Amino acid sequence: MISRLACLMCLIFALSMPGAGFAQQTLSLDGTLIQGGFAKGTVPPGSQVRYDDHDVIVGSDGRFLIGFHRDEPAETVLTVILPDGSEQRYPMNIQPREYDIQRLNGLPEEKVTPPQDVLDRIAAEAAKVRAARAQNSAETWYDSGWIWPARGPITGVFGSQRILNGEPRQPHYGVDVAAPEGSPVVAPADGVVTLLEPDLYFSGGTLMIDHGRGLASTFLHMKSFSVTLGQKVKQGDEIGTVGTTGRSTGPHLDWRINWFESRLDATLFVGPMPKDF
Ligand SMILES: [Zn+2]
Repeated sequence: MISRLACLMCLIFALSMPGAGFAQQTLSLDGTLIQGGFAKGTVPPGSQVRYDDHDVIVGSDGRFLIGFHRDEPAETVLTVILPDGSEQRYPMNIQPREYDIQRLNGLPEEKVTPPQDVLDRIAAEAAKVRAARAQNSAETWYDSGWIWPARGPITGVFGSQRILNGEPRQPHYGVDVAAPEGSPVVAPADGVVTLLEPDLYFSGGTLMIDHGRGLASTFLHMKSFSVTLGQKVKQGDEIGTVGTTGRSTGPHLDWRINWFESRLDATLFVGPMPKDF
């Protein structure tokens, strides 16, 4: 009992510092415990992991990954069920963030407040995207590491509260990279193509890559695709080109990362944009 208490204290201590590494007998967890962030963990092989209401995919080697939504509560719980059936609960402190307010004006009004007859189309498209996101592999393709899928000035950041033509709308979940129309888009990490839609109402040309274990990249507003559905891609492979399709004010790539339905901050995976883009 004493050792378990001590371990819990270590964990609380480690988790209070974003980016801290931590290891002990049952659970090791390494990552940025902040809204939009993620952590990689290890448990004894054969254990199950639950994070809030997610059943986390745990590899035969005991490795797993969890992500923290834009609006993740400050206090969450990770539960490990050991092979002997015993259960350990780890309280987690997720650091809150302050998000920018982004005002975009001059958008076509039907893209901000779609007419009733377009709402069915939007709902059907959202279901398609959710279905693509639901097909996640147990592979760990994300082990390839990460590069920027396009290079250029960052014109939109994760989490911004958006005011479109003066009306508050959904937050912005992607990172926007401005680049000339037709510039190559490359796979930021290994994975499999799970969605190719040339003309979604809001996101235009939309491509999704499953990186494994619930982690998926989505690319919006693309002009063209150079891969096929189900194709395995390696980091750096060209997947298509930058465009300005859908609800967009100019050529750019909007890159977003999900862990299941949780929206993560792509820049926390890849790091800052190189200065010499
Ligand atoms: Zn965007």
